[in-house]
Amino acid sequence: MALPSRAKYVVIGAGVHGLSTAWHLAEMLEAKGKGGGADIVVLDKGGIASGASGIACGVVRNNYFQPAMRELMAHSVEVWESDPAAFAYNPVGYMQISPESMHADVAEIYQQQQAIGYESDFIEGEADSATYMKGLFDDWQAKGITSVLHEKKGGFAHNTKSIYGLAGKAEAKGVRVLTGVTVTGFQTGHNSAAVTAVETDRGVIECEQIVVGVGPWVKQIWDMLELPKTVSIKGRDGQMHEGVGMWRYWALQEGVLGVDPDLQKTNSGDVPPVIHVDSDEPLYSDVDGSLITDKMWGIYYKPDTHFGGVQGGAVPHQVETDPDQVQVDPYGPASPDFVVDDEFAHMWCSALAFCQKRFEGQIVKYRKEPSGGIGCFTPDSFPVIDRFRENVYVIADSNHGYKMIGVGKLVAQELLNGESALLKPFRFDRYEKGELHPTSHSPFPWS
Ligand SMILES: Cc1cc2nc3c(=O)[nH]c(=O)nc-3n(C[C@H](O)[C@H](O)[C@H](O)COP(=O)(O)OP(=O)(O)OC[C@H]3O[C@@H](n4cnc5c(N)ncnc54)[C@H](O)[C@@H]3O)c2cc1C
Repeated sequence: MALPSRAKYVVIGAGVHGLSTAWHLAEMLEAKGKGGGADIVVLDKGGIASGASGIACGVVRNNYFQPAMRELMAHSVEVWESDPAAFAYNPVGYMQISPESMHADVAEIYQQQQAIGYESDFIEGEADSATYMKGLFDDWQAKGITSVLHEKKGGFAHNTKSIYGLAGKAEAKGVRVLTGVTVTGFQTGHNSAAVTAVETDRGVIECEQIVVGVGPWVKQIWDMLELPKTVSIKGRDGQMHEGVGMWRYWALQEGVLGVDPDLQKTNSGDVPPVIHVDSDEPLYSDVDGSLITDKMWGIYYKPDTHFGGVQGGAVPHQVETDPDQVQVDPYGPASPDFVVDDEFAHMWCSALAFCQKRFEGQIVKYRKEPSGGIGCFTPDSFPVIDRFRENVYVIADSNHGYKMIGVGKLVAQELLNGESALLKPFRFDRYEKGELHPTSHSPFPWS
């Protein structure tokens, strides 16, 4: 498809956010009698789903300690539920299984889920938690668990299929998705900071509005837009912390145990909820009994036909390299630097065996293929969703975002109709104002 010389809306990135925004924007323009997607172009330097959205584990959950995150996720779950077939969405639910150190945090999450009408059960106490889990899996054996939050909504979706589903919806409304086009810069008018055109390796596109949804590449586009490299953050102590770097990278640790996905069916033969276990029990090797860690650890897993086994992950690790030097490309499993190693496989498979007897001795079936990928995180590890340079809308999800399929709908509403209350807590100026999200005792940077 030829590159247009002009488009009213240019969306950069054919991942979950770019495509959801384009689809919803086209629908809203059509409803207003303003021509649907004819004026919207999505550009991607790779293909549809060639970024983080195409390798995501695909978990959709509400379990967040931050009220604003929970409300945003509840909204996104409605979008997932609007067309499960197109989004390859499996509404099997999600379970947060926790030790005593997280009990109070998770109890608060449960109470607030009740307040917003998000259906979940909360089981407290070691004996009742074990009984509940054995009711689901008769081989459950994790020790030290004192609470179970069982979200009845959410679950997981098949990564590439769902993103192609989004692309199909956008294209059906007239949006043009152009792949193999790399954005290399921006042009600005004389009297304002607004961007007047997007420069690409295949030519220049004049435009009125830009939406950036480039996932792990957000720092590159941020730098092209000459946005601040550091921020001032007003901490909870009231002190200003100056010069905090805007971006950092974490490496996601995920892999697949190549067993029949049916191995992980429930006692009643159903596909189970996604299981997430955090623990402060010592974790011993399922291979030789040696101590793997006596620090807090966490894993998540689900049977997944798309991955062809039981797929999941563990706590990510922070990339120590200076963010200016991090090589995002080649991305994901193709990266020479950011794929998981044997240590991950050993830890994750041993943790599976800690939780359920059926996984004992199964490490030999771990798929020895490159997996994992990096995410680009904000200073507080929560999304920044905001307008910059007057007409550039940036969706920087801080790697929370495959599940956030509804954010594009809210962004489209903001572009056409004004501010969304759900997006307001994610503005860039929260750092300066000290309007930070609360943090939990979870070992993950995203809970
Ligand atoms: C291993 C892994 C597992 C994950 N699991 C989950 C999960 O289970 N649940 C969850 O909610 N989240 C998960 N995430 C996070 C989630 O995948 C991301 O937050 C989300 O997919 C980001 O979506 P996006 O649309 O912003 O970016 P992406 O999906 O990364 O898409 C960005 C696109 O922009 C394109 N692009 C970049 N630069 C340019 C340029 N200069 N010009 C043109 N195009 C460009 C890229 O080619 C890419 O296709 C996971 C992430 C990883 C890495």
